[in-house]
Amino acid sequence: MHQVTLTFDNGPDANVTPLVLDILARRSIKSTFFVVGSRLAAHRASTERAHAEGHWIGNHTWSHSIPFRDRGDSDFIRSEIDRTQDEIGALSHPDRLFRPYGGMGRLDGALNTKAVDHLAERHYTCILWNAVPGDFANHEGWVETALTQVATIGWPLVVLHDVHARAMQHLDRFLGRLQDRGAMFEQRFPVNCIAMQRGQRTDLLDSGIVAN
Ligand SMILES: [Zn+2]
Repeated sequence: MHQVTLTFDNGPDANVTPLVLDILARRSIKSTFFVVGSRLAAHRASTERAHAEGHWIGNHTWSHSIPFRDRGDSDFIRSEIDRTQDEIGALSHPDRLFRPYGGMGRLDGALNTKAVDHLAERHYTCILWNAVPGDFANHEGWVETALTQVATIGWPLVVLHDVHARAMQHLDRFLGRLQDRGAMFEQRFPVNCIAMQRGQRTDLLDSGIVAN
């Protein structure tokens, strides 16, 4: 089997994030936590721990409420992106990782033209995804979905969420199944999920993800 990259979005959560960190530590797996700024402001300790343990910290908007396809004005863009980056502060990855809120995993319109210009100007690295097994909706059955998805993608970048305790009870079993199949966990991102690299646009932006 191939390499697999894991990311955990929408946290931090005071209870679930430490549980995820314990599981990753036991298996010596490094990942990225894309944090929601408003949650980080309330639960900073677990993100500090994630950073200290070698995980990367990325920006996943301040409010996680409205995709850029549905609201595209400059004030909203600045508050969603830069306010979160300020909150992350010294915990930031040097590449200033940002992941937009797609709304149920949707890629189309996850960005708009103004947001792309803003991310370019501020030298952000924009990371998308190619595997969304839906742990947020199917707390019990997501592992089978994830295993099926991972098997069909050359280098899967899996989106999971460190906010649903019931779903994350199955994380260790998922990781064990992957390791049994010979998966190699890779902290870096597959190039076909990188929409912008330190402000430089990539071809991925031409694939329908940018709304007007
Ligand atoms: Zn999210």
